[in-house]
Amino acid sequence: MNSIKRILIVEDEIAHFELIERGFERRQSEFALKRAVNISEALIQINLFKPDLIISDWKLPDGNGTELILKDSRGNATLPIILMTSYGNENFAVEALKLGVIDYIVKSPETFSDMVHICERTFREWEAIIEKRKMEDRIRKLSSAVEQSKVIVMITDIYGTVEYVNPKFEQVTGYSINEVVGRKASLIKSDSTDPEVFTNLWGTIKSGKEWKGEFLNKKKNGNLYWEAVSITPIRDENGYITNFLKIGEDVTESKNLHIELEKALERAEESVRLKSSILANMNHELRTPLMVILGMNQLLIDEISDDSHKQMLERVIESGKRLMNTLNSILDLSEIESDKTSFKLTEYSLDQNLEILFTLYARKAKERELNFNYQISSNGLIILVYERFFEQTLVNLIDNAIKYTPSGSINITVDKEMIDNQSWAKFCIKDTGIGIAKENLDLIFEEFRQVSEGMNRSFEGSGLGLTIVKKMVEVMHGNIQVESELGKGSIFTVRFPVINS
Ligand code: ADP
Repeated sequence: MNSIKRILIVEDEIAHFELIERGFERRQSEFALKRAVNISEALIQINLFKPDLIISDWKLPDGNGTELILKDSRGNATLPIILMTSYGNENFAVEALKLGVIDYIVKSPETFSDMVHICERTFREWEAIIEKRKMEDRIRKLSSAVEQSKVIVMITDIYGTVEYVNPKFEQVTGYSINEVVGRKASLIKSDSTDPEVFTNLWGTIKSGKEWKGEFLNKKKNGNLYWEAVSITPIRDENGYITNFLKIGEDVTESKNLHIELEKALERAEESVRLKSSILANMNHELRTPLMVILGMNQLLIDEISDDSHKQMLERVIESGKRLMNTLNSILDLSEIESDKTSFKLTEYSLDQNLEILFTLYARKAKERELNFNYQISSNGLIILVYERFFEQTLVNLIDNAIKYTPSGSINITVDKEMIDNQSWAKFCIKDTGIGIAKENLDLIFEEFRQVSEGMNRSFEGSGLGLTIVKKMVEVMHGNIQVESELGKGSIFTVRFPVINS
């Protein structure tokens, strides 16, 4: 014992007190004694001296020693009390212990001289009692938490026989605790779970690990419910698994919602695929006769000598080509939407191909009296693209730059850029054209939208070009950005990941 223990001796006989005191003499530094001669004095000393232990005579001038047993709100004695009598009486001993004294001793020279041991033993016992009370307290708190919990709790033995379920279990399943205790936990199984799941579950928990998963279970009334569960082994102090604890949550509502959403998504995807395949068929049906119209008109122009008739046919061809462009765009869009993963990306060397593409456009810009400059600093960069999409992306952006720039210049740069350890091939198509108002910058990537819808409807176009460009770029794992100022011009920046850096 490391701290001094205070002991209150309640004894009216001075001689007896002295004998007891002598019993402690050799261990004075460990025990501090105080004497009270009757109950009322003892009660005062309990407050003043604050004893760790009371040794009290049974018969005192103003009552008996059991009156000193003070109890807390739960009826537990708050102080250990050893009761002494002058002669042994078994009945009396049992009675005293029942009342809450910790020990009972009969006064004798041996007892008095053995006082230190008796006290030490009592302190040990008292410590154990306090420890047990704390444990019981914890258990009480835990069980009330489990009882009131909103989660389903089930405890089984290692063979899956139910030992406990909480009220939430009763509420969800409709089974009362008495109906399930002693029966197998599989009582609530619905047969819709693959037997392999259970093999895996038992394997996991028997090896001492936690198992998590979802079950479709059956209530007492036959209705099904989804339960998300976590099952963990409970071990004894030697580490052996004694029970399994299942914590579950009724997730029927969210699970059903999820299933509905999945079905809706499937339906939506199916209808997109359907729409795309209808569009693809329609395109074929429209393009074939259109090609014939364009081809025949071209032949006719060569045959006709009258200039005004020639001009009329040229208008027909021009409009036909425009219609063909729109059809091509719709076809591209439906192709991308029908299956984004079907495009096989291949290596594309920027050094070899870009020059040819840009030279073609330099001529077109010149016809419109625009300055056209390009600077390729790709230095051997290779990107992974779907060639037709990649070239069409640049073609669409340059076409737009020329179309929306009445006068001024188009500047194109190609170079390498590092972002977060990934190197990108960066294409900037910059024009000094009509520009786009801030509020319309997001709009231009939407299907069939033209910023020029109102004031500048004089520009031809379907409003599909940039929508397709964005989708094509995404298929190739790239990205596109636009910066623009109304009346000053626009910069479209496209990036593709480089694979040889
Ligand atoms: P469109 O067939 O109308 O050109 P796009 O999808 O290619 O369709 O472009 C959508 C709209 O974005 C265009 O109608 C135009 O208003 C605007 N736009 C695109 N490129 C430019 C540009 N370089 N400068 C100004 N406006 C542009």
